[in-house]
Amino acid sequence: MIDMAVFKQFQGAIAHLGEMAQPEPIADDERVARAKAVMRRKTDRSLALDLESCVNCGYCSEACHFYQGTQDPKYTPTRKLDLLRRVHARESAAFAPITRLFTRDINLADLQEWQELVYDSCTECGRCSMVCPMGINIARGVNVMREALSEAGLVPLELMAVAQEQAGRGTVFGVGPTELAGVVETLRGRGITIPLDEPHADVMLVTTVIDVLLFQDALAATARILNHLKVDWTLRSAGFEAANFGLLSGNEALQAAASQRIIDEALAIGAKAVILPECGHAYPTLRWEGRLPNGKPLPFEVLAASEFVGREIREGRLTLVPGDPSRKLTYHDACKLARHGGVIDEPRAALQALGVDFRETSPTAELNWCCGGGAGTFLINRAAPLRHKAWQIKRAQVEATGADTVVLSCASCRLNFMEGDEVEQSGLHIESLIELVAAQLPGPPAS
Ligand code: SF4
Ligand code: SF4
Repeated sequence: MIDMAVFKQFQGAIAHLGEMAQPEPIADDERVARAKAVMRRKTDRSLALDLESCVNCGYCSEACHFYQGTQDPKYTPTRKLDLLRRVHARESAAFAPITRLFTRDINLADLQEWQELVYDSCTECGRCSMVCPMGINIARGVNVMREALSEAGLVPLELMAVAQEQAGRGTVFGVGPTELAGVVETLRGRGITIPLDEPHADVMLVTTVIDVLLFQDALAATARILNHLKVDWTLRSAGFEAANFGLLSGNEALQAAASQRIIDEALAIGAKAVILPECGHAYPTLRWEGRLPNGKPLPFEVLAASEFVGREIREGRLTLVPGDPSRKLTYHDACKLARHGGVIDEPRAALQALGVDFRETSPTAELNWCCGGGAGTFLINRAAPLRHKAWQIKRAQVEATGADTVVLSCASCRLNFMEGDEVEQSGLHIESLIELVAAQLPGPPAS
């Protein structure tokens, strides 16, 4: 059970996050030059094709929760790439020398305007690309824009503050090895075996600041499942943090360094697999973008917690005590897990194994609506009204199923659902998939 007082405390802390940011003093011209340099460097053949092939059909608008929630044309997905498009057209496209004659260069005001478009009003969910007849990867272009703005020192202050903390002290929201050890002790006090800093293990479990601070039951649940399966596993103090504010802020160097900490620890203990917590963005960061320093693929598997339990169930290694068949559950697919990551069947295998009345949303799986809080948007204070409009689409989708509970496998989505529910007092029951699975393990409740 989540302690609502702790959640409120967390919200209070977020409200003041921006005050901790230390913006770099950069001259206006230098900001523009830095942003343009990133845009040029990142505009490879594939991105150039994306920038040049939009036919302005508008289908992507129908797919975007921020456009749908506001009907404001400035939130049209393809428009979010316009600045990148302008730089490409003036500097690297085939007719760039001619285009430069009758178009103006981008300036600081443009970059400032795009800050809201690529941080507040895009969760990089990728839903627009699912319907684009030209297959344009808008989320990738938005991410390049985040990298450009990060280089220009124009990251929203809340994300800047956390990224600076992670890059400097190596902690996130003040949570480091000491705080992890404290939670491990608390859970051990509940009778749960939690190996910490074992020198060798087959599986390295990664957790996240959100679980350490708010969702300790999710960490406890994952530990209980691993123990039940008799997996040889450990947490590692030097590589436990899944949250990657390099990815969220657009700071490439930090993204690589934060991933490297996990990779180094997994290599040090000879792990055959790394299991990530219920955290959407951690999955593509490590699973699809994680590489050894020499560029080679990681020599271990990377699994999301929901993917791991679903696979164990499907392969017959994990069976659950049947639950209440009259309980009506639906599932919210976190965008980074389902749409970007393909983790679709495994969580459903786990939901079916619960023995409850499982109801799909419509649409579902890779076309499921985003909750509006991903990619760091949840932390941006001024984005709250916009985020809420997006969440209302999600809430309506969940309510249409007639389910009494929505099940999630991403802590960030969970926070956004809790915030949305708090605003509307909708009485939505929100559960973590991993916690539901652990609650139906055969045998005694803690081990
Ligand atoms: S759906 Fe694709 S082609 Fe159509 S407007 Fe959007 S980005 Fe352009
Ligand atoms: S990636 Fe998602 S949030 Fe961003 S423009 Fe596309 S649909 Fe909208």
